[in-house]
Amino acid sequence: MNLNLYNTLSGKVEPLTLEAGKPLGIYACGPTVYDYGHIGNFRTFLQVDVLRRTLKLFGVPLRHVMNITDVDDKIIRNATALNLPIGEYTARFEKAFFEDLDALHVQRPEVIARATEHIDQMVKLIERLAAQGAAYQAEDGSWYFRLAAFPAYGKLSKKDLSGMVDGARVDVDEYEKDSARDFALWKAAKPGETSWQTAIGRGRPGWHIECSAMAMEYLGESFDLHAGGEDLTFPHHENEIAQSECATHKTFARHWMHVRFLLVEGRKMSKSEGNFFTLRDLLLKGYKASAIRFALVSVPYGNQMNFTFDGLVEATAAIERLRNFHARLVAAKLEPGATALKAAAGHAETAFRAALANDLNTAEARAPIFELVRQANTALDKGEVLAGDRDAILETLLFFDSVFDVMEDRDAEATRHAIEWAHSAGRADEIAPALLAGLSISDEEVEKLVAERTAAKKMRNFARADQIRIELAEKGILIEDSKDGVRWKRK
Ligand code: AMP
Ligand code: ZN
Repeated sequence: MNLNLYNTLSGKVEPLTLEAGKPLGIYACGPTVYDYGHIGNFRTFLQVDVLRRTLKLFGVPLRHVMNITDVDDKIIRNATALNLPIGEYTARFEKAFFEDLDALHVQRPEVIARATEHIDQMVKLIERLAAQGAAYQAEDGSWYFRLAAFPAYGKLSKKDLSGMVDGARVDVDEYEKDSARDFALWKAAKPGETSWQTAIGRGRPGWHIECSAMAMEYLGESFDLHAGGEDLTFPHHENEIAQSECATHKTFARHWMHVRFLLVEGRKMSKSEGNFFTLRDLLLKGYKASAIRFALVSVPYGNQMNFTFDGLVEATAAIERLRNFHARLVAAKLEPGATALKAAAGHAETAFRAALANDLNTAEARAPIFELVRQANTALDKGEVLAGDRDAILETLLFFDSVFDVMEDRDAEATRHAIEWAHSAGRADEIAPALLAGLSISDEEVEKLVAERTAAKKMRNFARADQIRIELAEKGILIEDSKDGVRWKRK
C-alpha cells in the first residue's frame, strides 16, 4: 500500500514514492536539549513515530534521521548561568528526552545526529555558499546567508515577502516576523561562550545550518521527506531550503510534513506562554504513559489538537477496553471453526490500513478496530466466537498495535521512573498520593494475595476473600472476577 501524505511544499496530498534501491530518507527536526520537553513537543515526535510505523507496516525500508540541537542561544544562556560546560548541561536533558520517548513508546530513528559533532560539515556548507556569493561575513566575523541569492525564498511557507528588506540581518535563532532577513549561518565567538576554531573563523553555528548539513550528511543532497512541527515551516525550514538549494542547485527535500500544534484553550502549548505540561508533570499526576500516547496520536497530525484532561481520561478508558478485550479473547475456551467475525476482522484491518494510507488519518484508523472489539465482545457474551475468529481478530489487533502501540501494559514502569526522578529532582511533593499507594505493592505481592483470595473463596471463607479485596483496593489494585478467571489491574 502507498502512503498518501500532504506535502506542504506542493500544497497537495501526494503519494510518498520510493526511489528504487534506496530506503526512504526522512529527516525530522529533533529537540533543542535545554529543558524537559512538553507534551506539545512530544505530539510532534509521536506523529513522526506514527509516520515511521505506518511506513514499516506498508513494508517501506527507512532511513530516518533526527538531530539533537545541543548548542544554541538558550543552551548557552542556561549553561552559563549554572556555570556548566554546555556538554554537561545538554547531556542531562538529552538523557531525559530519550527517557520520555521510551515512556511514550516512540521508536528510535536509524540515525541520531548531534549538532556539536557536525561542525565540519556545517563549515564546509558555509564555504560552499560563500564561494557562490550567497554567504558573506559581517564586520564582527559572523556569517550571514544573502537572501537575495535565492529568489525562490518563501516557496514552502507561501509567505508574501514583499516587505523583504535587502541586506537587513537577524542573528537570533528563532524569529517569527513575517519579513525575511539575511539570517546567521555562523556566529562569531563572544567572550566566555562556547566556540569552535574553524576555517571561517572562531564561532558557533546558527540553528538552520545544522539541519541542512546533517540532513545532507546522512541522506544526500536531495532526499525524500523532511518533517517537523508547524512552527518550523518559517523561518527554519524555509532557511534550510534556501541555504541547501543555493549550495547544491538540487531540490533539498521533495516532501514536507508539518505536525499541527497541540493547543491549550486555543493557544499553542509552549514554554513562553507558560501553558505547558511536561510528560513528567502528567505522570506524577497519575495519568498513564499509554493514555498520553494514545490521546496525542489519535487526533491526526494534520489537525490542531486541544489538550484536555478529559481527553486523557477518555484515552485511558479506550485502552482499558482494548486490553480487557484482548485478555478475555486470549483466555476464552473456543471451539474450532470460524464465523462472520473472521471476515469482519479482515475488513477492519483493510479499513485501518486505508485510513492510515489516507494522509495518516489516525482517528479514522482507530474507529474500525473499536467497532470490531464491540462486535466481538457481544459475540463472546453469547458464546458465539470460534477459534478461527480469534486468530483473525488477534492478527488485526497486532497490526493496529504495530502503529498505536498501547496494548502491552508497561505503564507502571514509566510511572515508577517518573517517581524516582521526582525524588531526585526535589519534586516529590508533586507525586499524586494515589500513585504512591498503588506502587507500594509489587506485582508479585499482588499475585500472591489474589491467589490467596481465590483459595479462600474455594474454601468458602468469604470474609477473608473480602478482606483481601479491600486491602488491595486500598493500594490501588482492582480485582475483576469473570467467567474466564480473575484479573487485576492498577487503578
Ligand atoms: P524544540 O525542542 O523547541 O525545538 O521543539 C521540538 C519540536 O516540537 C519541534 O518540531 C516543534 O515544532 C514542536 N512543537 C513545539 N511546540 C509544539 C506544540 N504546541 N504542538 C506540537 N508541536 C510542537
Ligand atoms: Zn531542523
